[in-house]
Amino acid sequence: RAKEDGKNGFQFFTKDMNESVARKSQLAMALRKGIGRGEFSIHYQPQVHLETEVLIGVEALVRWTHPELGMISPAEFIPIAEETGSIHRLGEYVLNEACRQNKAWQDAGVEPFRVAVNISALQFAQKDLPDIVSQALEASGLAPEYLELELTETVIQSAQSAIETMEELVALGVHLSIDDFGTGYSSLSYLKLFPIDTLKIDQHFTKNIETDSKDAALVKTIIRMAHELGLNVIAEGVETKAQVAFLKAEDCNQAQGYYYNKPMPAEELDSFLYPYKKSV
Ligand code: C2E
Ligand code: MG
Ligand code: MG
Ligand code: MG
Repeated sequence: RAKEDGKNGFQFFTKDMNESVARKSQLAMALRKGIGRGEFSIHYQPQVHLETEVLIGVEALVRWTHPELGMISPAEFIPIAEETGSIHRLGEYVLNEACRQNKAWQDAGVEPFRVAVNISALQFAQKDLPDIVSQALEASGLAPEYLELELTETVIQSAQSAIETMEELVALGVHLSIDDFGTGYSSLSYLKLFPIDTLKIDQHFTKNIETDSKDAALVKTIIRMAHELGLNVIAEGVETKAQVAFLKAEDCNQAQGYYYNKPMPAEELDSFLYPYKKSV
């Protein structure tokens, strides 16, 4: 593109590049400081059973409000946290806080549900991840069955060591799911080897269910394959009634998306939890 635009285009291109490099290093430094300064919080997005719309879990999604720069998207800062190593402290914060919050909901008398925490490939590759997870469970008092760890296909750099780590995590009693399923480049054969119990259909497939017959075919196939393998399926990014109808007709188990709820702070979720409260 720079070539087509000639000299000026090239100058703009380098200016943009310098700006993005500057922003990246600014964010890298701010991330390191911000973790200790309480600039991070977690929003929770409900996951519902498709047929009954009963809440079966929530996904914990980290949020960063920088004092001067404002809200920064995880799509921007997670890759920087990964590049600079901050992801480890940030990931531990999310894990601990999500466990603490879920236990607090349970202690308040809400019908128990799972909290799903995103685990970066770098965290997954860390030798002591099972210790970090077990410490978060111990510190919070949350029973392991109420914690789910979302892994992406990128964790599967070495299938053998990935299986070993997964087995260690499963031995703790937590659940594992594969996030953004269908967007990675890994072989399907790992699905029979990994001790996972849920596939999360990537939101890009969900988005095009109504408009792209090939995406619709892929979604149908993923659901069927998951069920054949004894796995649970959740569709991400569900926004419309038509998508819900399609997913129900295809027997998808669960859904998550703006059609139901946006991610929100814990206090805001409280009002949604009330109807699920156990009657004593
Ligand atoms: P993800 O784990 O696939 O999370 C789903 C993303 O889709 C979230 O974006 C969520 O807000 C968004 N979303 C939910 N429903 C809808 C919908 O109906 N339509 C659309 N268009 N989007 C929807 P968010 O919160 O910006 O997070 C983006 C990504 O950042 C996450 O994708 C995940 O990969 C990463 N991330 C977020 N929190 C954490 C974390 O604590 N640790 C790590 N390692 N990664 C995280
Ligand atoms: Mg996720
Ligand atoms: Mg996802
Ligand atoms: Mg994603």
